Amino acid sequence: MGRRAAAAVLFIAASAGAAGAPDGSRWWAHVRELASDAMEGRGTGTAGYRRAAEYVEGVLRRAGAEPAGSSGYEQPVHLESRRLLEDRSRVALVRAGVEGPLVLGDDVILGVRTDPAPAIDAPIVFIGWGVSAPDQGHDDLAGMDLRGKVAMYLSGSPPGLSAERSAHAQSAGVRWKALRAAGAVGQIAILNPRRMESPWERYARARTIPSMSLADPALDELAGERLSLLVNPARAEKFFAGGPHAFAEIVGLAEAGKPLPRFALPVSVRATTRVETGRVESFNVAAVVRGSDPGLAKEFVVLSAHLDHLGIAAPVGADAVYNGAMDNASGCAALLDFAERVRESGNRPRRSVLLLFVTAEEKGLLGSRWYALHPTVPRGAIVADLNIDMFLPLFPLRLVTVLGLDESDVGDAVRASARTLGIAVQGDPEPERHVFIRSDQYNFVREGVPAVMVDVAAPAGSAEAGLLGRWLAERYHSPSDDPEQPVDLRAAAAYETLMFDAAEAIADRDARPRWKPGSFFRRFASR
Ligand SMILES: [Zn+2]
Repeated sequence: MGRRAAAAVLFIAASAGAAGAPDGSRWWAHVRELASDAMEGRGTGTAGYRRAAEYVEGVLRRAGAEPAGSSGYEQPVHLESRRLLEDRSRVALVRAGVEGPLVLGDDVILGVRTDPAPAIDAPIVFIGWGVSAPDQGHDDLAGMDLRGKVAMYLSGSPPGLSAERSAHAQSAGVRWKALRAAGAVGQIAILNPRRMESPWERYARARTIPSMSLADPALDELAGERLSLLVNPARAEKFFAGGPHAFAEIVGLAEAGKPLPRFALPVSVRATTRVETGRVESFNVAAVVRGSDPGLAKEFVVLSAHLDHLGIAAPVGADAVYNGAMDNASGCAALLDFAERVRESGNRPRRSVLLLFVTAEEKGLLGSRWYALHPTVPRGAIVADLNIDMFLPLFPLRLVTVLGLDESDVGDAVRASARTLGIAVQGDPEPERHVFIRSDQYNFVREGVPAVMVDVAAPAGSAEAGLLGRWLAERYHSPSDDPEQPVDLRAAAAYETLMFDAAEAIADRDARPRWKPGSFFRRFASR
């Protein structure tokens, strides 16, 4: 799809009436503004991000949403950045004393989300999925002594875990905590070649973008990690050659839903790394649409969306601006539209609604982590989070995926609103992508707040599912996720109506949302 399709969509936007039901035109105008080249891809800590935030604050101010940061609309977030000096770093496999170098970017990517050890030499143990979820009867770490070793695993889900539980076990902090407790000094993830959502080149290209972490060392969830590698599955056999199992065999077992073996690899890994570090100052943007009920207005339903994207990075063709129109100007535009719709209708919900635009999502959900730990409203007053991130309105809206659907009655509220609108609802159909932990709602979940994220979906095998798949393969995290792409404005408007109805239903009812009795995540609420 190219410019002709985009032009047709714009024509619909221009000709639709201003009165009556929302037609998506205002949403699209916000997307075009936030994803314009002038915003330079909204990289965390950049001037482009600040320009985008100023646009957001201007709209909020005009819509009468109150500032709810620690300084006006803004809440500072202090970050540390790390860039691998690739020409001064090297990784090799050592087999029977003989060193075989790996090519950075082609064979492996060296992760620097925390400080790697300047030098490391350690044996490698393959541990299946690397998932420790004993409460679900699955523990790849049971009986493993990983002291002084680097743990290697196939990324993805063991069969039998719920999507949300599996996602939690694979979050960076939870996984590393378990590996570290077993003695591991590093980790190596291999992508499953049958489950890759974008080609290896996309990962390789992104490695030149600096990594970041929260500056507060107490919040470093990867502390103690001395080496982190991501392996190109097309090159993974080099790790397994001469051992008891080939990589192809492991992938076959995984795809057949069979248990994966755990064994010592016939190689060890030797690495030297050099990293350039720096401080980055960024900020979240927060505003409150004040509730109408004097008592309930002290409680907050959060609508969240990340404002950052990848900034300016490796060019594709002649284009180096990663505009991030769908990822995630689309979600921010929806939040702005919410403030404007409330202003126009004059119908304020009973509870307050906190509109939260977070920074550094692309760096590992850092802005939302900071906010969830340091909220600008009383911690216990946040009753729910509905997160919007890259919802992809590419075709008429008939089905949505609700991440966290059956974990709390926030999912029930979305289900009820969808039923009214004639939209079908499903839980996570692709648990292996573990989307539940991949956006900002997860940081609220970790602090005990019931939360969901809602995405446009399509039945497997349908033409619409093909559109979503193609979008992920071609535009996701690429400069072509820009305002020139075709979108379905009516679908965007329908999605907004669904989200706003659900948020207002939660904000209006007497009781605050609750976790389901059987939800794994309920434990975080009772700490
Ligand atoms: Zn993204």
